[in-house]
Formats: sequence, C-alpha cells, structure tokens
Amino acid sequence: MSRTVKTMAKIIDGKRIAEEVRENIASRAADFYGKYGIKPGLAVIIVGDDPASAVYVRNKKKACEQVGFYSEVHEMSADATMEELLEKIRALSCDEKIHGILVQLPLPGHLDENRVIAAIPPEKDVDAFHVQNTGKIMLGKYDFLPCTPAGIMKMLEHENIGIEGRECVVVGRSNIVGKPMAMLLLHANGTVTICHSKTRNLAEITKRADILVVAVGKADFITGDMVKDGAVVIDVGMNRREDGKLTGDVDFESVSEKASAITPVPGGVGPMTITMLLENTLTAAELAVKQQR
Ligand code: NDP
Repeated sequence: MSRTVKTMAKIIDGKRIAEEVRENIASRAADFYGKYGIKPGLAVIIVGDDPASAVYVRNKKKACEQVGFYSEVHEMSADATMEELLEKIRALSCDEKIHGILVQLPLPGHLDENRVIAAIPPEKDVDAFHVQNTGKIMLGKYDFLPCTPAGIMKMLEHENIGIEGRECVVVGRSNIVGKPMAMLLLHANGTVTICHSKTRNLAEITKRADILVVAVGKADFITGDMVKDGAVVIDVGMNRREDGKLTGDVDFESVSEKASAITPVPGGVGPMTITMLLENTLTAAELAVKQQR
C-alpha cells in the first residue's frame, strides 16, 4: 500500500535572525558611542490608550534599551489636538538627542495622519513614511526603508533565498507594507505582481509565485491550494483570534505542506520589523553626525 509522505517547509525563524541582526546593531551602536559619545535616540509618540499600540510602543522602548540606544516615549491623551501633536513633533525635530521620531499609528480619528507624517523631518523619519522617503524608494536610492518590507528583505537575504528572475507575488498594496515590498523585490530583479481586493482569480496568480508575500489582515486567508509546490511564503499578517491568540494571513498547516520555506506567526516578520526600526535609528544618528562634520 502506498503512503503519501508530506514534506514540511523550513520554518524561517524571524526571532533568531532578528537577534543576530540586533547583536550587530548593538555593536555598531557601541562603536558609535565610543567614537562620538552619542547614543542613537528614538522618540515614540503615542496618542490615546489603544492597548495594542501600547504593547508595540513598550516593545520598541525595550528593544532600544537592549541595543544601548536612548529612547523617550511621549504619551498624549486621546483628545490631544492636531496643534499639540504638531508642536510635540516640532520640539523633537530640534532635539539633538533624538535622531528618529515615530508616531504610533493608527491615530484617533480627529487627527490627520498624512499631516502628522509630513511634519516629521525626513532625516528623522525612521518609519520611512514621509513622501520624500517613499519617493526615494521608488528611485532605489534611499536612507531609510519602511521597517516591515526591509525586515523581509533581510530575512530572505539571511536565508540565501535568491530573488533575481523569480516570480514574486505580493498580496496587499498598503503604503506601509505591500507597495514598498513590491518595489524592493523589483529592485532586487524579481518579476513582481501586486494583488489586492479587486484582483480577479487570485489563486491563479498566487500559485505562480516562487516568493509569495501576504499582507492582507485576514486570518488564514491563503490556503495550501493557492500555493505552488516549493514556494517561499512570507506571512506579514497579525490577526487576533477570538481566544486572543495571534495568527497570520496564511493557513500555516496547509501551506507548510506545499512551501519550501515559510515564516510563522508569531516569530516571523514581527521581530524583524522592530529590528529594522533600530537599524533606521542608527542610520539616522550616523547621518546626523556626518552632516555636522
Ligand atoms: P491594510 O489593511 O492597509 O491593507 C490590506 C491590503 O489587503 C489592501 O491592499 C487590500 O486591498 C488587500 N486585501 C484585502 N482583502 C483582500 C482580498 N480579498 N484579496 C486580495 N487582497 C485583499 O493592511 P496592512 O498592509 O497595514 O497590514 C496587513 C497585515 O499585516 C495586517 O494583519 C497587519 O496587522 C499586519 N502587519 C504586520 C506587521 C508586522 O510587523 N508583522 C507590520 C505591519 C502590518 P485594497 O487595497 O484593494 O483594499
């Protein structure tokens, strides 16, 4: 009697890769401090009391401490006005201790996110959301990359997953994940397709992918029958199940039987995102020193 043996994909351990990269950042930060007596400094502004945002901000502060950065968290009440928030950004823009400014999104509905992002000086925009930084990404000449796509590229590089000439499919076209992700894969000479909610025959397209990046925000959205044998699958999604557990956009069980490599949730893309924020903050500090000399 024949028996089907299911092969399991390699699990890409984002947590371990992030630790390695953070060790390198810590050592670069120590050298930087030794040379200039300056710690890379990150200021995080949080408006309101959204519990998920509070966790992200705490994690960012902790990550800064671990690599020897200076960090500040500025908590503002949910009814803070646009003027108060802009004033806070203006003050931090002039603060020499602060090399990176991050405003935790989403903001309460009465605040205009685009105006807030535009108020952050591009050289302190460590999220890389400012139009000047997004424009530079289009041109392929940038100082900062948005943290999630940058973290994914770092993971692919770490795992020696070649991009050149390969079919890359990105599901999701947000400004912070899908679009910049597609652009980075294109710069790395991938053949890139972007899918979104209006895409027809999604499974036909995802099945072509050698590298499939999923950033949709719907639990278990991509299933095994939508994936080519041997594909590399990167799951950006972070969705909360009813029992409070974190889960991705990819149905891990069925997809890991088809893929050659897959990122888990948690422990995949998430830890890399914060790591790239640290990298951007260090880059901002290095650029600030260069400019002064
Ligand atoms: P957005 O909600 O901004 O974008 C979701 C994208 O998915 C949109 O482009 C939308 O298409 C597309 N989409 C929705 N439904 C479908 C569908 N049926 N078929 C194809 N495409 C569809 O989300 P984000 O990009 O900000 O985030 C995506 C996920 O990644 C979320 O779960 C988020 O929590 C997570 N995330 C995780 C991070 C990490 O560090 N791990 C960092 C950032 C985000 P359309 O444009 O047509 O509406």
